[in-house]
Amino acid sequence: MCGILATLLADGDGHCVGDLVDGMTVLQHRGQDAAGFTTASTSQDWEKVTFKTVKGTGMVREVFADPKRAQELLGNVGIAHVRYPTAGGSGLDDVQPFYANFPCGLALAHNGNLTNSERLRKELVSRHRHLNTTSDSEALLNVFAEHLAANLEARRRGSVGHAGDPLSTPVSPDTLFDAVERTMRRCVGGYAVVVLVHNVGVLAFRDPWGIRPMVFGERKSRTLENEYDRAVASESVALDTLGYKLCRDVAPGEAVLLRPGFPVLTQRCAERPVHRPCIFEYVYFARPDSTMDGVCVYAAQLKMGEKLAAKIKRQLGDRPKPDVVIAVPDTSRPIALQCAYSLDSVYREGFIKNRYIGRTFIMPGQDMRRKGVRMKLNTIKSEFAGRTVLLIDDSIVRGTTSRELVLMAREAGAKNVYFVSASPEVRYPNVYGINISTHNELVAHNRSADEVATFIKADWVLFQDLEDLEDCVRELNPALKEFENSVFSGCYVTCDDEESVATSSEQGSPRPGAKTPLSRVSPEAS
Ligand code: AMP
Repeated sequence: MCGILATLLADGDGHCVGDLVDGMTVLQHRGQDAAGFTTASTSQDWEKVTFKTVKGTGMVREVFADPKRAQELLGNVGIAHVRYPTAGGSGLDDVQPFYANFPCGLALAHNGNLTNSERLRKELVSRHRHLNTTSDSEALLNVFAEHLAANLEARRRGSVGHAGDPLSTPVSPDTLFDAVERTMRRCVGGYAVVVLVHNVGVLAFRDPWGIRPMVFGERKSRTLENEYDRAVASESVALDTLGYKLCRDVAPGEAVLLRPGFPVLTQRCAERPVHRPCIFEYVYFARPDSTMDGVCVYAAQLKMGEKLAAKIKRQLGDRPKPDVVIAVPDTSRPIALQCAYSLDSVYREGFIKNRYIGRTFIMPGQDMRRKGVRMKLNTIKSEFAGRTVLLIDDSIVRGTTSRELVLMAREAGAKNVYFVSASPEVRYPNVYGINISTHNELVAHNRSADEVATFIKADWVLFQDLEDLEDCVRELNPALKEFENSVFSGCYVTCDDEESVATSSEQGSPRPGAKTPLSRVSPEAS
Protein backbone atom coordinates (compact mmCIF):
# COMPACT_ATOMS: atom_id res chain seq x y z
CA MET A 1 0.00 0.00 0.00
CA CYS A 2 1.52 3.29 -1.00
CA GLY A 3 0.39 6.89 -1.12
CA ILE A 4 0.39 9.12 -4.18
CA LEU A 5 -0.25 12.78 -4.82
CA ALA A 6 -0.09 15.11 -7.82
CA THR A 7 -0.60 18.87 -7.89
CA LEU A 8 -0.81 21.42 -10.68
CA LEU A 9 -0.77 25.07 -9.67
CA ALA A 10 -2.55 27.40 -12.09
CA ASP A 11 0.24 29.93 -11.72
CA GLY A 12 3.10 28.77 -13.93
CA ASP A 13 5.53 30.82 -11.86
CA GLY A 14 4.47 29.08 -8.64
CA HIS A 15 6.14 26.13 -6.94
CA CYS A 16 4.19 23.10 -5.80
CA VAL A 17 6.91 21.56 -3.64
CA GLY A 18 5.32 22.85 -0.41
CA ASP A 19 2.01 21.17 -1.26
CA LEU A 20 3.74 17.96 -2.22
CA VAL A 21 5.83 17.71 0.93
CA ASP A 22 2.92 18.63 3.23
CA GLY A 23 0.53 16.35 1.37
CA MET A 24 2.84 13.37 1.51
CA THR A 25 3.43 13.94 5.20
CA VAL A 26 -0.34 13.65 5.63
CA LEU A 27 -0.32 10.43 3.59
CA GLN A 28 2.66 9.06 5.52
CA HIS A 29 0.49 6.36 7.14
CA ARG A 30 0.31 4.68 3.69
CA GLY A 31 4.03 4.01 3.58
CA GLN A 32 7.08 4.83 5.66
CA ASP A 33 9.72 2.98 3.72
CA ALA A 34 10.71 5.65 1.16
CA ALA A 35 9.47 8.84 -0.46
CA GLY A 36 10.03 10.41 -3.87
CA PHE A 37 9.09 13.65 -5.61
CA THR A 38 9.30 14.88 -9.21
CA THR A 39 8.39 18.41 -10.33
CA ALA A 40 8.50 20.51 -13.50
CA SER A 41 7.36 23.87 -14.78
CA THR A 42 4.55 24.45 -17.28
CA SER A 43 5.45 28.06 -17.98
CA GLN A 44 8.99 27.76 -19.29
CA ASP A 45 9.97 27.21 -22.88
CA TRP A 46 9.14 23.50 -23.08
CA GLU A 47 12.45 22.54 -24.66
CA LYS A 48 14.26 23.89 -21.62
CA VAL A 49 12.09 22.22 -19.00
CA THR A 50 13.82 19.54 -16.97
CA PHE A 51 12.21 17.28 -14.40
CA LYS A 52 13.57 17.73 -10.88
CA THR A 53 13.58 14.69 -8.62
CA VAL A 54 14.32 14.11 -4.95
CA LYS A 55 14.13 10.60 -3.52
CA GLY A 56 15.19 8.92 -0.34
CA THR A 57 14.49 6.03 1.97
CA GLY A 58 12.58 6.57 5.20
CA MET A 59 9.85 9.02 6.09
CA VAL A 60 9.18 12.28 4.24
CA ARG A 61 10.85 14.30 7.00
CA GLU A 62 13.95 12.14 6.73
CA VAL A 63 14.15 12.68 2.97
CA PHE A 64 14.06 16.43 3.63
CA ALA A 65 16.28 16.31 6.72
CA ASP A 66 18.33 18.81 4.79
CA PRO A 67 15.68 21.43 3.90
CA LYS A 68 17.80 22.59 0.95
CA ARG A 69 16.70 19.47 -0.90
CA ALA A 70 13.19 20.93 -1.19
CA GLN A 71 14.63 23.91 -3.06
CA GLU A 72 15.72 21.57 -5.83
CA LEU A 73 12.08 20.80 -6.62
CA LEU A 74 11.27 23.77 -8.82
CA GLY A 75 8.07 24.15 -10.80
CA ASN A 76 4.31 24.40 -10.52
CA VAL A 77 3.48 20.79 -11.37
CA GLY A 78 4.60 17.62 -9.63
CA ILE A 79 3.91 14.12 -8.42
CA ALA A 80 4.96 12.31 -5.25
CA HIS A 81 4.93 8.87 -3.69
CA VAL A 82 5.42 7.25 -0.29
CA ARG A 83 6.40 3.62 -0.41
CA TYR A 84 5.19 0.64 1.49
CA PRO A 85 7.12 -2.21 -0.09
CA THR A 86 5.08 -4.91 -1.79
CA ALA A 87 6.79 -5.62 -5.11
CA GLY A 88 10.34 -4.89 -6.15
CA GLY A 89 13.38 -4.21 -4.05
CA SER A 90 13.77 -1.89 -1.09
CA GLY A 91 16.78 0.11 -2.27
CA LEU A 92 16.96 3.67 -3.54
CA ASP A 93 16.74 2.53 -7.16
CA ASP A 94 13.24 1.24 -6.54
CA VAL A 95 11.99 4.49 -5.04
CA GLN A 96 9.30 6.11 -7.18
CA PRO A 97 8.59 8.18 -9.28
CA PHE A 98 10.16 6.34 -12.20
CA TYR A 99 11.27 8.30 -15.24
CA ALA A 100 11.16 7.57 -18.98
CA ASN A 101 12.38 9.95 -21.66
CA PHE A 102 10.39 8.29 -24.39
CA PRO A 103 8.21 9.27 -26.28
CA CYS A 104 8.29 12.42 -24.16
CA GLY A 105 9.35 13.09 -20.59
CA LEU A 106 7.23 10.91 -18.30
CA ALA A 107 7.48 10.37 -14.55
CA LEU A 108 5.15 7.85 -12.92
CA ALA A 109 4.15 6.95 -9.38
CA HIS A 110 1.87 4.06 -8.55
CA ASN A 111 -0.07 2.68 -5.61
CA GLY A 112 -1.00 -0.98 -5.95
CA ASN A 113 0.36 -4.09 -7.51
CA LEU A 114 0.25 -5.66 -10.97
CA THR A 115 -0.35 -9.38 -10.97
CA ASN A 116 1.01 -9.94 -14.47
CA SER A 117 4.16 -7.86 -14.12
CA GLU A 118 6.43 -10.83 -14.87
CA ARG A 119 4.79 -11.34 -18.23
CA LEU A 120 4.84 -7.61 -19.00
CA ARG A 121 8.50 -7.54 -18.08
CA LYS A 122 9.28 -10.39 -20.49
CA GLU A 123 7.37 -8.68 -23.27
CA LEU A 124 9.17 -5.40 -22.70
CA VAL A 125 12.59 -7.00 -22.48
CA SER A 126 11.91 -8.94 -25.67
CA ARG A 127 11.49 -5.56 -27.36
CA HIS A 128 14.86 -4.40 -26.04
CA ARG A 129 13.48 -2.22 -23.29
CA HIS A 130 15.85 -2.12 -20.37
CA LEU A 131 14.19 -2.29 -16.98
CA ASN A 132 16.50 -1.17 -14.25
CA THR A 133 14.54 -2.53 -11.30
CA THR A 134 12.18 -5.36 -10.44
CA SER A 135 9.39 -2.88 -9.67
CA ASP A 136 6.04 -3.44 -11.37
CA SER A 137 5.69 0.35 -11.51
CA GLU A 138 8.64 0.59 -13.87
CA ALA A 139 7.01 -2.04 -16.09
CA LEU A 140 3.74 -0.10 -15.99
CA LEU A 141 5.50 3.10 -17.00
CA ASN A 142 7.13 1.38 -19.96
CA VAL A 143 3.90 -0.23 -21.10
CA PHE A 144 2.23 3.19 -21.02
CA ALA A 145 5.18 4.81 -22.80
CA GLU A 146 5.06 2.19 -25.55
CA HIS A 147 1.38 2.81 -26.22
CA LEU A 148 1.78 6.56 -26.17
CA ALA A 149 4.72 6.29 -28.57
CA ALA A 150 2.70 4.08 -30.91
CA ASN A 151 -0.20 6.56 -30.87
CA LEU A 152 2.06 9.51 -31.60
CA GLU A 153 3.82 7.63 -34.35
CA ALA A 154 0.51 6.64 -35.96
CA ARG A 155 -0.63 10.25 -35.88
CA ARG A 156 2.69 11.50 -37.20
CA ARG A 157 2.43 9.17 -40.17
CA GLY A 158 -1.13 10.35 -40.72
CA SER A 159 0.01 13.94 -40.79
CA VAL A 160 2.95 13.48 -43.18
CA GLY A 161 2.27 15.48 -46.29
CA HIS A 162 0.55 18.12 -44.20
CA ALA A 163 2.98 19.16 -41.57
CA GLY A 164 5.46 16.29 -41.53
CA ASP A 165 7.25 17.63 -38.50
CA PRO A 166 7.00 15.29 -35.49
CA LEU A 167 6.23 18.30 -33.32
CA SER A 168 3.02 18.74 -35.24
CA THR A 169 1.75 15.65 -33.43
CA PRO A 170 1.43 17.01 -29.93
CA VAL A 171 0.80 14.82 -26.92
CA SER A 172 -2.93 15.53 -27.03
CA PRO A 173 -5.57 14.37 -24.53
CA ASP A 174 -6.73 11.84 -27.12
CA THR A 175 -3.32 10.24 -27.45
CA LEU A 176 -2.97 10.08 -23.66
CA PHE A 177 -6.41 8.62 -23.01
CA ASP A 178 -5.94 6.12 -25.78
CA ALA A 179 -2.61 5.05 -24.25
CA VAL A 180 -4.33 4.62 -20.86
CA GLU A 181 -7.03 2.49 -22.48
CA ARG A 182 -4.44 0.19 -24.00
CA THR A 183 -2.41 0.12 -20.80
CA MET A 184 -5.51 -0.95 -18.87
CA ARG A 185 -6.02 -3.82 -21.28
CA ARG A 186 -2.51 -5.08 -20.68
CA CYS A 187 -1.97 -4.42 -17.00
CA VAL A 188 -3.83 -6.65 -14.56
CA GLY A 189 -4.10 -5.82 -10.89
CA GLY A 190 -4.87 -2.98 -8.55
CA TYR A 191 -3.40 0.38 -9.47
CA ALA A 192 -3.90 4.07 -8.89
CA VAL A 193 -1.39 5.97 -11.01
CA VAL A 194 -0.19 9.55 -11.47
CA VAL A 195 1.97 10.49 -14.45
CA LEU A 196 3.77 13.78 -14.94
CA VAL A 197 3.74 14.37 -18.69
CA HIS A 198 6.27 16.81 -20.07
CA ASN A 199 4.73 19.89 -21.63
CA VAL A 200 1.23 18.68 -20.78
CA GLY A 201 0.51 18.36 -17.04
CA VAL A 202 -0.67 15.44 -14.93
CA LEU A 203 -2.47 12.32 -16.05
CA ALA A 204 -4.04 10.11 -13.37
CA PHE A 205 -5.90 6.82 -13.69
CA ARG A 206 -7.44 4.10 -11.56
CA ASP A 207 -7.75 0.39 -12.37
CA PRO A 208 -11.03 -0.95 -13.87
CA TRP A 209 -12.11 -2.37 -10.50
CA GLY A 210 -11.21 0.73 -8.50
CA ILE A 211 -9.33 -1.51 -6.08
CA ARG A 212 -6.94 1.20 -4.99
CA PRO A 213 -8.43 4.57 -4.01
CA MET A 214 -7.98 7.92 -5.75
CA VAL A 215 -9.69 11.32 -5.47
CA PHE A 216 -9.27 14.71 -7.11
CA GLY A 217 -9.95 18.24 -5.95
CA GLU A 218 -9.44 21.90 -6.67
CA ARG A 219 -8.88 25.18 -4.86
CA LYS A 220 -8.79 28.80 -5.92
CA SER A 221 -5.37 29.88 -7.06
CA ARG A 222 -3.70 32.03 -4.41
CA THR A 223 -2.14 34.29 -7.04
CA LEU A 224 -4.39 34.26 -10.13
CA GLU A 225 -7.98 35.39 -10.14
CA ASN A 226 -10.61 32.95 -11.43
CA GLU A 227 -8.03 30.21 -11.83
CA TYR A 228 -7.85 26.90 -9.99
CA ASP A 229 -5.05 24.75 -8.65
CA ARG A 230 -5.79 21.05 -8.98
CA ALA A 231 -4.70 17.90 -7.18
CA VAL A 232 -5.10 14.12 -7.26
CA ALA A 233 -4.45 12.03 -4.15
CA SER A 234 -4.81 8.57 -2.64
CA GLU A 235 -6.99 9.94 0.13
CA SER A 236 -9.13 13.04 0.62
CA VAL A 237 -7.32 13.87 3.85
CA ALA A 238 -4.39 15.16 1.77
CA LEU A 239 -6.73 17.47 -0.17
CA ASP A 240 -8.34 18.75 3.06
CA THR A 241 -5.03 19.61 4.58
CA LEU A 242 -3.84 21.49 1.52
CA GLY A 243 -7.08 23.48 1.25
CA TYR A 244 -8.44 21.71 -1.84
CA LYS A 245 -12.14 20.96 -2.14
CA LEU A 246 -12.83 17.30 -2.83
CA CYS A 247 -14.49 17.17 -6.28
CA ARG A 248 -15.00 13.41 -6.39
CA ASP A 249 -13.37 10.00 -6.54
CA VAL A 250 -11.74 9.00 -9.79
CA ALA A 251 -14.08 6.31 -11.09
CA PRO A 252 -12.85 2.75 -11.72
CA GLY A 253 -11.20 2.61 -15.12
CA GLU A 254 -11.28 6.41 -15.46
CA ALA A 255 -8.44 8.75 -16.42
CA VAL A 256 -8.19 12.39 -15.37
CA LEU A 257 -6.08 14.97 -17.14
CA LEU A 258 -4.92 18.17 -15.43
CA ARG A 259 -3.50 20.85 -17.74
CA PRO A 260 -2.69 24.48 -17.05
CA GLY A 261 -5.35 26.85 -18.33
CA PHE A 262 -7.88 24.10 -19.15
CA PRO A 263 -10.72 22.55 -17.20
CA VAL A 264 -10.16 19.02 -15.87
CA LEU A 265 -10.72 16.44 -18.60
CA THR A 266 -11.88 12.96 -17.69
CA GLN A 267 -12.49 9.87 -19.75
CA ARG A 268 -13.60 6.32 -19.05
CA CYS A 269 -10.81 4.14 -20.39
CA ALA A 270 -11.96 0.65 -19.33
CA GLU A 271 -14.60 -1.03 -21.42
CA ARG A 272 -16.78 -2.32 -18.60
CA PRO A 273 -15.52 -1.13 -15.24
CA VAL A 274 -16.96 -2.73 -12.13
CA HIS A 275 -16.41 -1.09 -8.80
CA ARG A 276 -14.77 -3.40 -6.23
CA PRO A 277 -12.84 -1.18 -3.81
CA CYS A 278 -10.53 -2.86 -1.33
CA ILE A 279 -12.44 -3.45 1.90
CA PHE A 280 -9.22 -3.52 3.95
CA GLU A 281 -8.76 0.22 3.26
CA TYR A 282 -11.74 0.96 5.51
CA VAL A 283 -10.57 -1.18 8.44
CA TYR A 284 -6.87 -0.59 8.42
CA PHE A 285 -5.23 1.61 5.82
CA ALA A 286 -7.16 4.79 5.32
CA ARG A 287 -7.22 7.57 7.85
CA PRO A 288 -10.59 7.87 9.60
CA ASP A 289 -10.88 11.50 8.47
CA SER A 290 -10.77 10.46 4.80
CA THR A 291 -13.81 10.06 2.58
CA MET A 292 -13.29 7.20 0.21
CA ASP A 293 -15.68 6.28 -2.58
CA GLY A 294 -18.28 8.46 -0.93
CA VAL A 295 -17.88 6.84 2.48
CA CYS A 296 -16.49 8.57 5.54
CA VAL A 297 -14.01 6.05 6.91
CA TYR A 298 -14.72 7.04 10.52
CA ALA A 299 -18.46 6.52 10.07
CA ALA A 300 -17.79 3.06 8.61
CA GLN A 301 -15.58 2.23 11.58
CA LEU A 302 -18.28 3.23 14.06
CA LYS A 303 -20.60 0.81 12.31
CA MET A 304 -17.91 -1.87 12.57
CA GLY A 305 -17.91 -1.35 16.32
CA GLU A 306 -21.70 -1.73 16.45
CA LYS A 307 -21.73 -4.91 14.41
CA LEU A 308 -18.91 -6.38 16.45
CA ALA A 309 -20.83 -5.65 19.64
CA ALA A 310 -23.89 -7.42 18.23
CA LYS A 311 -21.80 -10.48 17.41
CA ILE A 312 -20.15 -10.44 20.84
CA LYS A 313 -23.59 -10.34 22.49
CA ARG A 314 -24.78 -13.23 20.33
CA GLN A 315 -21.78 -15.41 21.04
CA LEU A 316 -20.64 -14.53 24.56
CA GLY A 317 -22.63 -17.42 26.05
CA ASP A 318 -21.57 -18.36 29.60
CA ARG A 319 -18.28 -16.53 29.45
CA PRO A 320 -17.81 -13.72 31.98
CA LYS A 321 -18.94 -10.33 30.61
CA PRO A 322 -16.03 -8.04 29.76
CA ASP A 323 -15.33 -5.42 32.42
CA VAL A 324 -13.52 -3.17 30.01
CA VAL A 325 -12.94 -2.73 26.26
CA ILE A 326 -9.41 -1.75 25.26
CA ALA A 327 -8.29 -0.76 21.76
CA VAL A 328 -4.96 -1.67 20.25
CA PRO A 329 -3.87 1.81 19.17
CA ASP A 330 -4.32 3.54 16.85
CA THR A 331 -6.40 2.17 14.00
CA SER A 332 -8.96 0.25 16.02
CA ARG A 333 -9.81 3.07 18.44
CA PRO A 334 -13.04 4.32 16.79
CA ILE A 335 -14.17 0.71 16.36
CA ALA A 336 -13.44 -0.23 19.98
CA LEU A 337 -15.02 2.92 21.34
CA GLN A 338 -18.29 2.34 19.55
CA CYS A 339 -18.20 -1.35 20.39
CA ALA A 340 -17.86 -0.55 24.11
CA TYR A 341 -20.72 1.93 23.84
CA SER A 342 -22.99 -0.61 22.11
CA LEU A 343 -22.08 -3.27 24.69
CA ASP A 344 -22.90 -0.84 27.49
CA SER A 345 -19.40 -1.50 28.72
CA VAL A 346 -16.48 0.75 29.61
CA TYR A 347 -13.87 1.93 27.09
CA ARG A 348 -10.40 2.54 28.47
CA GLU A 349 -6.94 3.22 27.11
CA GLY A 350 -4.87 0.25 28.25
CA PHE A 351 -1.99 0.29 25.77
CA ILE A 352 0.09 3.40 25.34
CA LYS A 353 1.92 3.76 22.09
CA ASN A 354 5.33 5.19 21.57
CA ARG A 355 4.62 7.54 18.68
CA TYR A 356 8.21 7.71 17.62
CA ILE A 357 8.64 4.13 16.61
CA GLY A 358 7.98 2.64 13.18
CA ARG A 359 5.53 -0.11 12.35
CA THR A 360 6.29 -3.61 13.59
CA PHE A 361 4.45 -5.45 10.87
CA ILE A 362 7.15 -5.19 8.27
CA MET A 363 10.10 -5.97 10.52
CA PRO A 364 11.87 -9.10 9.36
CA GLY A 365 11.66 -12.18 11.59
CA GLN A 366 9.18 -13.12 14.30
CA ASP A 367 11.58 -12.30 17.11
CA MET A 368 12.22 -8.77 15.84
CA ARG A 369 8.48 -8.29 15.44
CA ARG A 370 7.77 -9.46 18.98
CA LYS A 371 10.35 -7.12 20.40
CA GLY A 372 8.92 -4.40 18.19
CA VAL A 373 5.48 -4.82 19.78
CA ARG A 374 6.98 -4.29 23.26
CA MET A 375 8.91 -1.28 22.06
CA LYS A 376 5.78 0.19 20.54
CA LEU A 377 3.15 -0.56 23.18
CA ASN A 378 3.17 -0.65 26.97
CA THR A 379 0.31 -1.40 29.37
CA ILE A 380 -1.37 0.76 32.00
CA LYS A 381 -1.44 -2.03 34.58
CA SER A 382 -4.40 -0.74 36.59
CA GLU A 383 -6.70 -1.06 33.57
CA PHE A 384 -6.04 -4.78 33.35
CA ALA A 385 -5.56 -5.93 36.96
CA GLY A 386 -8.25 -8.36 38.06
CA ARG A 387 -10.48 -7.67 35.04
CA THR A 388 -11.96 -9.51 32.12
CA VAL A 389 -10.58 -7.42 29.26
CA LEU A 390 -11.80 -7.33 25.69
CA LEU A 391 -9.00 -6.24 23.38
CA ILE A 392 -9.89 -5.02 19.90
CA ASP A 393 -7.48 -4.79 17.00
CA ASP A 394 -8.18 -4.05 13.34
CA SER A 395 -6.84 -7.44 12.25
CA ILE A 396 -4.96 -10.56 13.20
CA VAL A 397 -2.51 -11.44 10.43
CA ARG A 398 0.43 -13.54 11.59
CA GLY A 399 -0.71 -13.48 15.20
CA THR A 400 2.60 -12.07 16.45
CA THR A 401 1.10 -8.82 17.69
CA SER A 402 -2.00 -10.35 19.23
CA ARG A 403 -0.05 -13.11 20.99
CA GLU A 404 2.30 -10.59 22.54
CA LEU A 405 -0.57 -8.30 23.56
CA VAL A 406 -2.43 -11.15 25.24
CA LEU A 407 0.74 -11.98 27.18
CA MET A 408 1.19 -8.33 28.15
CA ALA A 409 -2.42 -8.16 29.32
CA ARG A 410 -1.89 -11.22 31.50
CA GLU A 411 1.37 -9.83 32.87
CA ALA A 412 -0.61 -6.72 33.81
CA GLY A 413 -2.94 -8.91 35.86
CA ALA A 414 -5.93 -9.50 33.57
CA LYS A 415 -8.26 -12.27 34.75
CA ASN A 416 -9.55 -13.17 31.29
CA VAL A 417 -8.35 -11.90 27.93
CA TYR A 418 -10.69 -11.82 24.94
CA PHE A 419 -9.24 -10.77 21.59
CA VAL A 420 -11.56 -9.37 18.95
CA SER A 421 -10.54 -8.66 15.37
CA ALA A 422 -12.44 -5.99 13.43
CA SER A 423 -11.54 -7.88 10.25
CA PRO A 424 -12.58 -11.39 9.39
CA GLU A 425 -9.94 -14.13 9.37
CA VAL A 426 -7.06 -13.18 7.03
CA ARG A 427 -6.60 -16.49 5.24
CA TYR A 428 -5.25 -15.70 1.78
CA PRO A 429 -2.39 -13.69 0.31
CA ASN A 430 -3.00 -10.26 -1.17
CA VAL A 431 -1.94 -9.60 -4.75
CA TYR A 432 -3.14 -5.99 -5.10
CA GLY A 433 -0.61 -4.08 -3.06
CA ILE A 434 -1.04 -5.13 0.57
CA ASN A 435 1.90 -6.86 2.15
CA ILE A 436 0.16 -10.10 3.09
CA SER A 437 1.99 -12.58 0.97
CA THR A 438 2.54 -16.10 2.20
CA HIS A 439 -0.49 -18.05 3.31
CA ASN A 440 1.39 -20.32 5.70
CA GLU A 441 2.42 -17.29 7.74
CA LEU A 442 -1.22 -16.36 8.26
CA VAL A 443 -2.38 -17.60 11.63
CA ALA A 444 -6.02 -18.02 10.53
CA HIS A 445 -5.07 -20.05 7.46
CA ASN A 446 -6.45 -23.53 8.19
CA ARG A 447 -7.31 -22.55 11.78
CA SER A 448 -10.69 -21.93 13.37
CA ALA A 449 -11.24 -18.97 15.72
CA ASP A 450 -10.82 -21.33 18.70
CA GLU A 451 -7.55 -22.65 17.29
CA VAL A 452 -6.35 -19.08 16.78
CA ALA A 453 -7.29 -18.43 20.44
CA THR A 454 -5.10 -21.37 21.46
CA PHE A 455 -2.25 -20.06 19.30
CA ILE A 456 -2.35 -16.54 20.70
CA LYS A 457 -3.17 -17.87 24.20
CA ALA A 458 -6.38 -15.85 24.54
CA ASP A 459 -9.46 -17.03 26.45
CA TRP A 460 -11.66 -16.21 23.49
CA VAL A 461 -11.10 -14.94 19.94
CA LEU A 462 -13.81 -13.47 17.78
CA PHE A 463 -13.60 -12.22 14.19
CA GLN A 464 -15.90 -9.79 12.39
CA ASP A 465 -18.11 -11.47 9.75
CA LEU A 466 -17.21 -10.51 6.19
CA GLU A 467 -20.84 -9.75 5.34
CA ASP A 468 -21.08 -7.44 8.36
CA LEU A 469 -17.83 -5.70 7.52
CA GLU A 470 -18.95 -5.03 3.97
CA ASP A 471 -22.39 -3.90 5.16
CA CYS A 472 -20.71 -1.21 7.28
CA VAL A 473 -19.44 0.42 4.08
CA ARG A 474 -22.42 -0.48 1.87
CA GLU A 475 -24.91 1.06 4.28
CA LEU A 476 -23.11 4.38 3.88
CA ASN A 477 -22.98 4.16 0.08
CA PRO A 478 -25.46 1.64 -1.33
CA ALA A 479 -23.92 2.14 -4.79
CA LEU A 480 -20.98 0.05 -3.56
CA LYS A 481 -22.24 -3.47 -4.06
CA GLU A 482 -19.17 -5.66 -3.84
CA PHE A 483 -15.61 -5.35 -2.64
CA GLU A 484 -12.14 -6.66 -3.26
CA ASN A 485 -11.96 -8.95 -0.24
CA SER A 486 -9.52 -11.65 -1.37
CA VAL A 487 -7.49 -11.82 1.86
CA PHE A 488 -10.65 -12.99 3.60
CA SER A 489 -12.44 -14.92 0.86
CA GLY A 490 -9.72 -16.15 -1.50
CA CYS A 491 -11.74 -14.64 -4.39
CA TYR A 492 -9.63 -12.50 -6.68
CA VAL A 493 -11.56 -9.97 -8.77
CA THR A 494 -9.06 -10.02 -11.62
CA CYS A 495 -9.29 -13.81 -12.12
CA ASP A 496 -5.65 -14.19 -11.32
CA ASP A 497 -5.05 -17.83 -11.79
CA GLU A 498 -1.91 -18.31 -13.81
CA GLU A 499 -3.82 -19.19 -16.93
CA SER A 500 -6.08 -16.16 -16.96
CA VAL A 501 -3.14 -13.89 -16.23
CA ALA A 502 -1.35 -15.41 -19.19
CA THR A 503 -4.37 -14.97 -21.45
CA SER A 504 -5.16 -11.53 -20.19
CA SER A 505 -1.87 -10.10 -21.21
CA GLU A 506 -2.48 -11.19 -24.78
CA GLN A 507 -6.10 -10.21 -24.97
CA GLY A 508 -6.37 -7.40 -22.49
CA SER A 509 -7.21 -7.67 -18.83
CA PRO A 510 -10.16 -9.84 -17.87
CA ARG A 511 -13.19 -7.69 -18.43
CA PRO A 512 -14.83 -6.81 -15.16
CA GLY A 513 -18.49 -7.67 -15.35
CA ALA A 514 -17.67 -10.53 -17.68
CA LYS A 515 -19.14 -13.89 -16.85
CA THR A 516 -16.47 -14.94 -14.38
CA PRO A 517 -15.60 -11.80 -12.50
CA LEU A 518 -14.44 -13.73 -9.45
CA SER A 519 -12.18 -16.68 -9.27
CA ARG A 520 -11.00 -18.54 -6.23
CA VAL A 521 -7.29 -18.97 -6.32
CA SER A 522 -5.45 -21.46 -4.26
CA PRO A 523 -2.89 -19.55 -2.22
CA GLU A 524 -0.18 -21.65 -3.82
CA ALA A 525 -1.21 -20.48 -7.29
CA SER A 526 -0.95 -16.81 -6.47
P1 AMP B 1 0.25 -9.68 13.15
O1 AMP B 1 1.12 -9.52 14.29
O2 AMP B 1 0.95 -10.22 11.96
O3 AMP B 1 -1.02 -10.44 13.44
O4 AMP B 1 -0.17 -8.24 12.67
C1 AMP B 1 -1.34 -7.64 13.06
C2 AMP B 1 -1.09 -6.17 13.22
O5 AMP B 1 -0.48 -5.61 12.06
C3 AMP B 1 -2.38 -5.43 13.46
O6 AMP B 1 -2.18 -4.70 14.65
C4 AMP B 1 -2.55 -4.51 12.29
O7 AMP B 1 -2.82 -3.20 12.74
C5 AMP B 1 -1.25 -4.55 11.53
N1 AMP B 1 -1.44 -4.84 10.11
C6 AMP B 1 -2.37 -5.57 9.55
N2 AMP B 1 -2.19 -5.65 8.22
C7 AMP B 1 -1.09 -4.96 7.94
C8 AMP B 1 -0.37 -4.68 6.75
N3 AMP B 1 -0.75 -5.17 5.60
N4 AMP B 1 0.72 -3.91 6.83
C9 AMP B 1 1.11 -3.44 8.01
N5 AMP B 1 0.49 -3.67 9.15
C10 AMP B 1 -0.61 -4.43 9.14
